[in-house]
Amino acid sequence: MQMKLLMDRIRRDGRVEGENILKVDSFLNHQIDVELLDEIGREFRRQFRDRTVSKILTIESSGIAIACIAARYFSCPVVFAKKTKSLNLSGDVYTASVESFTHKTVNDIIVSKKFLQADDHILIIDDFLANGKAILGLSDLVRQSGAELVGAGVVIEKGFQDGGKRIREMGIDLHSLAIVDAMDQETGIRFREEAPGEEML
Ligand code: 5GP
Repeated sequence: MQMKLLMDRIRRDGRVEGENILKVDSFLNHQIDVELLDEIGREFRRQFRDRTVSKILTIESSGIAIACIAARYFSCPVVFAKKTKSLNLSGDVYTASVESFTHKTVNDIIVSKKFLQADDHILIIDDFLANGKAILGLSDLVRQSGAELVGAGVVIEKGFQDGGKRIREMGIDLHSLAIVDAMDQETGIRFREEAPGEEML
């Protein structure tokens, strides 16, 4: 279910760059509105209510602040995957390859085996979902560890790119707090219509 407070803020302060980049750096990933992040964290807890979450997993750097505030509501630690150019072959890390949406480079992401264990219940959190590469990479780390993947929480899903579809088709329980179905510098941002019966917050 989408979050009206967040959608209003995106409408007001979001900037469309080029064809498919939404800049929200005045409140989400450069300057950070901590009170809004607090509401976002509360909403993730509400959407994953009744689920056991032992750790939140995210990817550096924009996901970290969001994950940390959400973690206050789940009362659990945050683990962030680090991006690295050189593969660590020591065997003490889980690794996956992720193509960066914004930079078009491929990074290996790593998490120490110490921090993801088979008895963990992992919730993935990230700022944006575009083609799904970041979340697929993170879910691969969870698979390697043998932990349970509870689901994924995303602040902004760009519904006109295919990541959301792929992730839902894989059976991952994905909750996006705002889904942008179209955006244009002139005409602005169009959010996904809620299905009948789904009331907006
Ligand atoms: P994906 O891996 O799903 O293709 O892209 C998700 C990642 O790319 C996110 O972690 C986010 O950092 C970045 N990203 C994707 N689309 C956007 C966008 O429109 N704006 C910003 N600021 N970041 C984006």
